Amino acid sequence: MSNYNMDTKCVQAGYRPGNGEPRQIPIIQSTTFKYATSEDMGKLFDLEASGYFYSRLQNPTNDYVAAKIVELEGGAAGMLTSSGQAANFFALFNICENGSHIVSSSSIYGGTFNLIAVTMAKMGVEVTFVSPDCTEEELDAAFRENTKAVFGESIANPALTVLDIEKFAKAAHSHGVPLVVDNTFPTPVNCNPIAWGADIVTHSTTKYMDGHGAAVGGAIVDAGKFDWMAHAEKFPGLCTPDESYHGITYAEKFGKEGAFITKCTSQLMRDLGCIQSPQSAYILNLGLESLHVRMARHVENGQAVAEFLSRQPQVAYVNYPGLKEDKYYETARKYMPKGGCGVVSFELKGGRQAAETFMKHLKLAAIETHVADARTCCLNPATSTHRQMTEEQLKAAGVPAGLVRISCGLEDKEDLTADLGQALNAI
Ligand SMILES: *Cc1c(COP(=O)(O)O)cnc(C)c1O
Repeated sequence: MSNYNMDTKCVQAGYRPGNGEPRQIPIIQSTTFKYATSEDMGKLFDLEASGYFYSRLQNPTNDYVAAKIVELEGGAAGMLTSSGQAANFFALFNICENGSHIVSSSSIYGGTFNLIAVTMAKMGVEVTFVSPDCTEEELDAAFRENTKAVFGESIANPALTVLDIEKFAKAAHSHGVPLVVDNTFPTPVNCNPIAWGADIVTHSTTKYMDGHGAAVGGAIVDAGKFDWMAHAEKFPGLCTPDESYHGITYAEKFGKEGAFITKCTSQLMRDLGCIQSPQSAYILNLGLESLHVRMARHVENGQAVAEFLSRQPQVAYVNYPGLKEDKYYETARKYMPKGGCGVVSFELKGGRQAAETFMKHLKLAAIETHVADARTCCLNPATSTHRQMTEEQLKAAGVPAGLVRISCGLEDKEDLTADLGQALNAI
């Protein structure tokens, strides 16, 4: 399918049924798979043949859907995981170990920040956070001898900063390590990190890819471009024999295109088992079939809501990379010319009290700790996710008490702005 355009791939890439086979992806609801001889199965265990033996590691339904996401991102191989958290953990831990170091943008999803700064730290993986706006020199200075990867989000949740992917890719490659980009918010429909130098792309498919708030999931795509063997001393897991697989060296046996995902499946999935259920993969694929249609509408609604809010007297400022006055407008135009996503954040001048009144009066936008689905939803971090913080702590964290994040769904944009307008008037 690689010669087709994005919209066609969203609908048809991945599963290609043969004569008389089901038109829709079959849900292979089976933990295990049957073989005629022990020898046949032994070949699978030795990674000498490809096939399925146990759904903790791999399942055909998942692989159909992963193959579609690989095509959308322009990668070489991919896999689904049980969540976006699992995708980011696997993508990093596949090349890191006790004693490794990561350089990460500081502007990332709170769950990922915690994963890297707290949980992976307990595993002996250190991190240096850098501002996404840092200079090339500052970025360069963050690297160490034991750095194994660079991480960032194409559009950060919830700060809506836009990553200068080329800058981060150049720094990563000059230090002989890959760039991992979480592309959840713009999705491959609006941004293609691999084309700008990213080596590994991750997703919380829970967000726009599913798009209906129906199934938690994640995905990892490997561009297949990073030359592990050229930096063999940094990546012993890929470049030296794996004794748990009879001494296979992944980078030798599976090459640049296959080594990363094969190791991630056969070691991390085997040992940690964070696989997506085939039911969820099926639901995810239904979302992917309309991703290109939905993203355009999310962007249209996000733009209309951002422009509307920026004209309201009760609003101090609006963050949205599609606004000309936004700090990331030019970066977004370069990396996502069709627009970014439908998430907008803004601060109400009246602080916490104003935010509470505003949210109480919304009729269409529901209060949820979620983003990126068909129904508009919003959140005031100060009274929900950041509730335990004082006014001073909120300010220091860049989350003022009057900040509201709104994820614009697929409703009519005039209905949305009218709803926001009447709720603003109630303040
Ligand atoms: C939600 C989110 C995650 C975590 O994904 P889950 O599916 O909730 O585990 C990771 N990265 C980004 C950018 C997200 O928005």
